[in-house]
Amino acid sequence: MNFYIRDCLLIIENMKAGILIIGDEILGGNTLDTNSHFAAGLLRAHNFEVQNILTVADNANAIRTGLDILFSFADIIISTGGLGPTKDDVTKQVVTEYFGTRLIFDDDVYENLNQRYARRGLTVNELTRTQAFVPEAADIIQNPVGTAPVFWLENSNNGKTLITLPGVPGEMRFLLEGAILPRLKQRFSTEHVIQRAIHTVGIAESSLAKKLEDVEDRIEAANSPGEFYKLAYLPTLNQVKLQITGRGKDEVQLKNQIDVFIEEIEKRAHEFIFGYDQDVFAAHIGQILLERKATLSTAESCTGGYLAHQITSVTGSANYYHGTVVSYDNAVKMKQLGVKEETLEKYGAVSEETCKEMLEGALKLFGTTYAIATTGIAGPTGDVEGKPIGTVWIGVGSQYKMVTKRYQFDRNRLENIHLFAITALDILRRFVLGYKI
Ligand code: ATP
Repeated sequence: MNFYIRDCLLIIENMKAGILIIGDEILGGNTLDTNSHFAAGLLRAHNFEVQNILTVADNANAIRTGLDILFSFADIIISTGGLGPTKDDVTKQVVTEYFGTRLIFDDDVYENLNQRYARRGLTVNELTRTQAFVPEAADIIQNPVGTAPVFWLENSNNGKTLITLPGVPGEMRFLLEGAILPRLKQRFSTEHVIQRAIHTVGIAESSLAKKLEDVEDRIEAANSPGEFYKLAYLPTLNQVKLQITGRGKDEVQLKNQIDVFIEEIEKRAHEFIFGYDQDVFAAHIGQILLERKATLSTAESCTGGYLAHQITSVTGSANYYHGTVVSYDNAVKMKQLGVKEETLEKYGAVSEETCKEMLEGALKLFGTTYAIATTGIAGPTGDVEGKPIGTVWIGVGSQYKMVTKRYQFDRNRLENIHLFAITALDILRRFVLGYKI
């Protein structure tokens, strides 16, 4: 008996999905399961409700039980792993049996294998040739980036669907996003999901929420049985991503409505917004500098080069960034940046006075339009009276104007260093754009 993907569209909203991760290496703690993270995010973003994620061993019993458990909640299961040609990869045999079908040789899969191997000057050996045996009832989706094809199996009685993907994360992502998701949407989903992100910096989640109270009310009021909108606050260190999701049948209406919400958010929080969707903070800083044909240098103590790393992680940063002095030792602060010995003795390395002299030193040494200086205590040791762990002085300035400000954070060492750097970049942003610091 042959089963193929039905031509009809299943009109079911909020399809329930389960993710089955197959692999002893995950259970043994040798490999971190990144596949479920990716798959769940992608499915959720496209209106498939992930109900359960289950990890099972590479053995027939465990896989069968996993399928039973997940199918008791879900209409669709996405599995990853165990599709290789070696003895420990049993997924194919198990799912073939589970769907009451048999393995047959598929010429197209074999041709794909031959072509892949030929491109590398290799020939397909007997073991690899077994990859061309596929469940007869499955719809086969070729894998252009690996050897294991994807099997799409549907139960003709209840429509329950299993899609088996290879375990290699790069292959799994490529196939799920590029080949499987469009088919899933075509087959199961009648609704559109639009997701937009607004990135903010330098404002706490609670303060932002206070500013956006009435926008949240408007978003809630826009919900109707056919249209659904939601605003989520997703905070990371010193940044909050505002994620607006809209779900409904009319894509244009969703986009227009979300644009209105974004405008309303901009009106209330514009000075904290640095970007949208895929935008990255350090790239935004670069953009601000490029637009002004300005240049930047840094003098780092407590950030130890991390600030420079943030700035230079952006392609093209050489067009505005000149360099840093990692002046961890006081001798370097004096020799490279011209910080005075008396200043260090009188006020200490973590002080406004030292920070200011570091800033002046960087501006002089590099001759840039702007400079940033950081001096603080990342912890967990090194605190002194009046200067607890997490204290940082940040200076930002040009040859015409300088500001220095003290901040207090309370995280672990690496998080503090990250916070120091992001805050320093944010002060530069505010300084250049003319916002109050
Ligand atoms: P192939 O046919 O290409 O060998 P496969 O389906 O047999 O793929 P596995 O052998 O199970 O996949 O795993 C291949 C690689 O992918 C291994 O290095 C494994 O550690 C990694 N991997 C498998 N599952 C996951 C997962 N859930 N998250 C991250 N890595 C994974």
